[in-house]
Amino acid sequence: MAAARTVLLTGSNRGIGLELVKQLLGSPRPPAWIFATCRDPDGPRAQELRDLASKHPNLVLVKLDVENPSAVTDAAKVVEGKLNGMGLNLLINNAGIYTPTASLDTVDAEDMVRTYKTNAVGPMLMAQAFLPLLKKAAQDSKEKGLSCSKAAIINISTILGSIKKTPDSFFHPVISYRCSKAALNMLTMCQALTYKEAGILCVALHPGWVKTDMGTQEADLTVDTSVRGLLSVLPILSEKHSGTLLNWEGKAIPW
Ligand code: NDP
Repeated sequence: MAAARTVLLTGSNRGIGLELVKQLLGSPRPPAWIFATCRDPDGPRAQELRDLASKHPNLVLVKLDVENPSAVTDAAKVVEGKLNGMGLNLLINNAGIYTPTASLDTVDAEDMVRTYKTNAVGPMLMAQAFLPLLKKAAQDSKEKGLSCSKAAIINISTILGSIKKTPDSFFHPVISYRCSKAALNMLTMCQALTYKEAGILCVALHPGWVKTDMGTQEADLTVDTSVRGLLSVLPILSEKHSGTLLNWEGKAIPW
């Protein structure tokens, strides 16, 4: 199965995003370009990413806060310049925030809006800004159907955004997070239906409960296991998966 030649990720300075960068760099056929975006590529929280970039010329660090529309369009211009006529095969919307204490008793308007902006509006702005580059990749590809090696938007979502599965996990209410990720799931379906014509696959992936700053050390999966799973799911995705939510093992989760 072919691998994506050009990849862009958000929130790539720590957690799942950083591990995605590491495993993509270490893959048998690494992408020609990996655009690892983060809010502060020059700050202390991006040291590991900078160390990687100093060893891997195909890794490019780009400043990008997904909450800021002009930062998103600026980043798209930087990436377009670097790609120099090539398209973008794979956009991974990974950046996300989470308020663990947000029950219905405690959640407030500010937290609801802030979480929605990062987790749902951000991925929408990213897809809008990078659409011309994704379309270019789809047009330039000789592959039939939809695939991550051709052109794809992967939204890192969560089972906590599944309305159907809510009763099973409601001991953990996290209202702002659940609502924002349910919106991201809806966005994924709308993107899948809209961008199908342009040859772009759109899938939401649940990485499992992962040991990161967000997932805490109580989580089930190491970041290595989760990302290994996510990266093994990408090559099997085709048009039948577009507009669905799958977990890190490729199993479907109901919306
Ligand atoms: P972390 O909290 O470890 O990392 C979050 C990343 O998102 C950081 O790089 C952070 O950057 C970045 N980020 C946050 N806000 C913005 C923003 N406005 N613009 C750009 N980057 C931003 O989380 P995980 O790695 O665990 O989570 C990654 C994704 O996986 C998220 O979408 C999350 O919802 C999802 N997920 C995680 C699970 C888990 O158990 N860990 C379970 C299910 C889903 P900075 O360092 O600047 O804050």
